[in-house]
Amino acid sequence: TYGFESVGGASEKQARVNEVFHRVAERYDLMNDLMSGGLHRIWKSAMVSWLAPSKRPGWRFVDVAGGTGDIAFRIVEASNGAATGTVLDINGSMLAVGAERAEKRKLSDNLTFVEGNAESLDLPDSAFDAYTIAFGIRNVPRIDLALAEAFRVLKPGGRFLCLEFSEVDLPVLDKLYEAWSFKAIPAIGKVVAGDRESYEYLVESIRRFPNQANFETAIRQAGFERVTHRNLSGGIAAMHSGWKL
Ligand code: SAM
Repeated sequence: TYGFESVGGASEKQARVNEVFHRVAERYDLMNDLMSGGLHRIWKSAMVSWLAPSKRPGWRFVDVAGGTGDIAFRIVEASNGAATGTVLDINGSMLAVGAERAEKRKLSDNLTFVEGNAESLDLPDSAFDAYTIAFGIRNVPRIDLALAEAFRVLKPGGRFLCLEFSEVDLPVLDKLYEAWSFKAIPAIGKVVAGDRESYEYLVESIRRFPNQANFETAIRQAGFERVTHRNLSGGIAAMHSGWKL
């Protein structure tokens, strides 16, 4: 109903995504800066401010599709080192970069890096105070399964917070953004990562992802309440929040 892929296409899509992130893992952080003009840092800060992690010891989160750890590091820092979290990703190459960065930042005691699939989490029910996912859910073939899993692993009273590319709602910006994403991003991908095709694929996945309103509906259908969103940079990205009550 939201442009979700059929079951038959899901494993093919996942294989494609995995290949892309294996290839780009080492250059992933640099690519993010180049492709978003540094904006992804501002968006990630906005996400963690909205989350406002508790500074009480024992507060636990899971960052799904956590890749190289960006969101998890910010959450632990915003909690003054109190939060503990699981960084889960389907891709061992991305996690390896993340675990190394965590060690350098002396955050290894707060974080566990786990390989796994957002569609079927090997995590207990009602275990986390927050579930975060940044620029990840777009890559998951069956979004509805990922949302159901998010709901399952959250404690009652727990918060779902997602950051993802979304639909630009400003008339001039949308044209600029289209030119940037369809021309500049694949070109940067070619020069920096030697890989134009992977980046074309990523841009296409942004275009296919449900807009703000449709994604809100999907989150509600998974059982979440008080579902809202906030646009960032005119809707280039959006944050969606929901509560398991
Ligand atoms: N959250 C990080 C950030 O914001 O920098 C990484 C985002 S990166 C664009 C997308 C990540 O989603 C990749 O690390 C990829 O391996 C992961 N991913 C793709 N499909 C997944 C799945 N089914 N389950 C878990 N992670 C997945």
